[in-house]
Amino acid sequence: MSSLGHAQQFEPGAATADRRLNLVGLSRDELTAELASIGAPPFRARQLWHWIYHRGVTDFAAMSSLAKDFRARLAERYVIQRPAVNRALQSVDGTRKWLLAFPDGQEVEAVHIPESDRGTLCVSSQVGCTLTCRFCHTGTQRLVRNLSAAEIVGQVMLARDALGEWPSPQDGRLLSNIVMMGMGEPLYNYDNVAKALKIVMDGEGISISKRRITLSTAGVVPMIRRCGAELNVNLAISLHAVTDEIRDEIVPINRKYPIAELLDACRSYPGLNNARRITFEYVMLRDVNDSPADARALVRLLKGIPAKVNLIPFNPWPGSPFECSTDEVIAQFSQIVFDAGYASPVRTPRGQDIMAACGQLKSESVRLRASQRAAAHG
Ligand code: SAH
Repeated sequence: MSSLGHAQQFEPGAATADRRLNLVGLSRDELTAELASIGAPPFRARQLWHWIYHRGVTDFAAMSSLAKDFRARLAERYVIQRPAVNRALQSVDGTRKWLLAFPDGQEVEAVHIPESDRGTLCVSSQVGCTLTCRFCHTGTQRLVRNLSAAEIVGQVMLARDALGEWPSPQDGRLLSNIVMMGMGEPLYNYDNVAKALKIVMDGEGISISKRRITLSTAGVVPMIRRCGAELNVNLAISLHAVTDEIRDEIVPINRKYPIAELLDACRSYPGLNNARRITFEYVMLRDVNDSPADARALVRLLKGIPAKVNLIPFNPWPGSPFECSTDEVIAQFSQIVFDAGYASPVRTPRGQDIMAACGQLKSESVRLRASQRAAAHG
């Protein structure tokens, strides 16, 4: 288990306890306007942007391209803050998880998953979730609020701090990809997610391309269209069932936006081709959605959509009403989808010893203590 040095309070886009404004999470235009309010011209905003998002500097005194008195004026009014880190855990497989705390006492988690050719950060968009998908642990959490843009960008910056990855490297990055697959439904917090992702994608800063960002949604159809038009990041759809009858039960947002409408929105998502496909996530639930007939129905549904299928072994949690399909059943399902011409990898669980896996991004202190024990013994 590793632990991080940051213990500051994190008050995104708002006056901090000492009344200074956090600059993290402001759009370029907002930063320019903010600096104009203290009489600084637009090129100063650009310099600051470089220091904050390319160099990762948190102390104005280190901004050597700015005059000393200007640095001092900035430090009087502003701060550059990260989320507070309540816990940092590292799995035997290299997966890292940070439990982040906000000033209102709410916590979310961010998870970094290293692989041979990339490193992916799983980012949360909300505290809790309103969707109540039956197999997901986050849905059982009572408190829900949206994260601000600063709280979302802050997860990326904090991970980059911990990985020692400033200034933004050209390539070979440890944090090369982002998936909006943590806690929450990103398309129910679209404005803040969009603002945060625009900051993250900005070529003069963190500079992670839209091709390396995937937004996962349970299917907020109208917002899928907006996301395509405005952000055009990769899309992942939590499909999980092939009939409205079953999907109504396990992914209740289906009652509002049924499968046909959802797939229509997918079909018209801009920029799709064989090299840029929609990922359909499908959690394998024993005797619920895992028959060969289900696999064949899935293939029929996906017809005409550049798609790949990600089969996720169900991750049980205490009291969860499902079991994971057997390995044989998963392999058979995968084969049917593969034979129809779709990539159908089975997701390997990562970071199990630190409870980093799908649907377990939950931060009750009881569960946290359990995960610390697991990490200590791992
Ligand atoms: N709300 C978004 C993103 C968060 S969930 C969405 O629904 O896509 C990220 C992924 O983890 C989704 O595909 C979700 O269905 C899946 N998931 C949630 N709980 C799980 C569990 N217990 N086992 C396996 N996958 C799970």
